[in-house]
Amino acid sequence: MHGTETTAGPVEGPVPPEETSATGEAGSNPEAMAAVVRAVEAALPPDSVVSDHIRLRTYECDGLAHYRVTPALVVLPETTEQLAAVVRACSEHGVPFVARGSGTGLSGGALPRADGVLVVTSRMRTIHEVRPEDQRAVVDPGVINLDVTHAASPRGYYYAPDPSSQQICSIGGNLAENSGGAHCLKYGFTTNHVLGAEFVTPQGDVVQLGGMAPDSPGYDLLGAVVGSEGTLGIATRTIVKLTRLPQEVRTVLAGFASTDDAGAATSAIIGAGIVPAAIEMMDALAIEAAEAATKCDYPAGAGAVLVIELDGAAVEVEHEFAEVERICQEHHAFATRVATDPAERALIWKGRKSAFAAVGRISPDYIVQDGVIPRTALPGVLRSIAELSESSGVRVANVFHAGDGNLHPLVLFDDAVEGAAEAAEEVSGAILDLCISHGGSITGEHGVGIDKAAYMPKMFSDEDLDTMQLVRCAFDPDGVANPGKVFPTPRLCGEVPGRKKGAPHPLVAAGKAEAF
Ligand SMILES: Cc1cc2nc3c(=O)[nH]c(=O)nc-3n(C[C@H](O)[C@H](O)[C@H](O)COP(=O)(O)OP(=O)(O)OC[C@H]3O[C@@H](n4cnc5c(N)ncnc54)[C@H](O)[C@@H]3O)c2cc1C
Repeated sequence: MHGTETTAGPVEGPVPPEETSATGEAGSNPEAMAAVVRAVEAALPPDSVVSDHIRLRTYECDGLAHYRVTPALVVLPETTEQLAAVVRACSEHGVPFVARGSGTGLSGGALPRADGVLVVTSRMRTIHEVRPEDQRAVVDPGVINLDVTHAASPRGYYYAPDPSSQQICSIGGNLAENSGGAHCLKYGFTTNHVLGAEFVTPQGDVVQLGGMAPDSPGYDLLGAVVGSEGTLGIATRTIVKLTRLPQEVRTVLAGFASTDDAGAATSAIIGAGIVPAAIEMMDALAIEAAEAATKCDYPAGAGAVLVIELDGAAVEVEHEFAEVERICQEHHAFATRVATDPAERALIWKGRKSAFAAVGRISPDYIVQDGVIPRTALPGVLRSIAELSESSGVRVANVFHAGDGNLHPLVLFDDAVEGAAEAAEEVSGAILDLCISHGGSITGEHGVGIDKAAYMPKMFSDEDLDTMQLVRCAFDPDGVANPGKVFPTPRLCGEVPGRKKGAPHPLVAAGKAEAF
């Protein structure tokens, strides 16, 4: 048993068992797995259990495709009872399990374990209730984010958190990552929109956290679970908050000579007391990529653009729009365009929302970084990123949620060039250091997963990390829920998370998928 020490004195507590590796590559226990397979086959229909090696490989990675592990078993439960039976079997036999929604995560949170079971929620896609009168919807964990809005909008409501992946990512994945999106500046992250969840504990018990009413007495266990990246159990039927569709939406595209001007305009807008639904920034390189991919017609020659969206009552939007226009001009915007119809609005957003994939047009490989800084630090940090890029010769495109200081630098490289991946990793790590030194964090919304576990000690002391383990172990004393994620394990500790080189993904090699 490890002792932990906090400022309040030594604390004894359970810790997860030592792991052979963060991905379980060397830790399999065939007898335990065989027992789990028997239990799972008895509880689930035959087509819900995948054990064929080729099909298992379909699940070997999430959106962070350079980490790959083939799971020992994949299950696709259709009900909470089936899902709980799987987790119970894992718990009884000490076999790790990993939850997976749509597998779009960008930090390797849904990376399977070679010695474990991958629990996929993609067959749990029922929208049980849409209750505008309560501003609530009750949905299964595998429901696609945008489908909640599709179900609610005929009745005048929508689901506000809008990750750029919203056409494919799941509500369960959003909950586990506390996902953000362009409109989270005004409306808040997922944690502000999840009011309750049926939850399968790592022992396989089904409990209810939170509920239809806005607040529950006692500890905020729902709050602990949101953002826990699958390390405390698996959320099933979830109660989300619906937001009234605004009376008026106005989308403005403003072109600036530099990111300095665009960053200063962002701070000035918020400083003037206006909280737009979204303020997104793209720099020259990101604009070049978006133009190549989507022909979005952003202002030629811009060093940066801002996409600013205002929503609310028509009279309020009108007033705020006049202010935003004035502030942009004060900060030397040389072009502004206002979307006059839904098609133009969609085109402005298409450039921004396709930006990650679009970067594939200007670079064969890239790292999507995710860090957050106080908004006022934006101009200085963007300048430092430009200096890093210039001194290293590694190109960096910036596209991000400027309103809440959530950076997404895209570090470009060509894996075919000797040493290029390592140089890109170095720049990527240095950007995180910049975020920390400016009072920010190593992740704004994509989570820690496996990718950033080794960075956690840069932000937290040993005592902080040990205290977090007490929370994790209170839920999961046997360490079976997504082990090896979020916290540095002895093996990863001090290791710089690197882009793993290796053979291309089998689907890419077969010409059936494109890596971008
Ligand atoms: C092109 C692109 C754009 C993106 N844009 C954004 C963005 O704007 N904002 C943003 O925040 N993210 C963004 N992401 C990241 C990603 O889409 C989000 O993190 C999303 O919430 C993941 O959902 P998922 O269903 O794919 O989850 P997965 O990738 O399947 O899983 C993510 C994590 O959640 C856990 N998990 C999944 N389901 C459950 C469950 N039911 N209970 C408990 N744990 C669970 C997994 O174990 C894993 O740790 C983007 C990704 C891509 C590829």
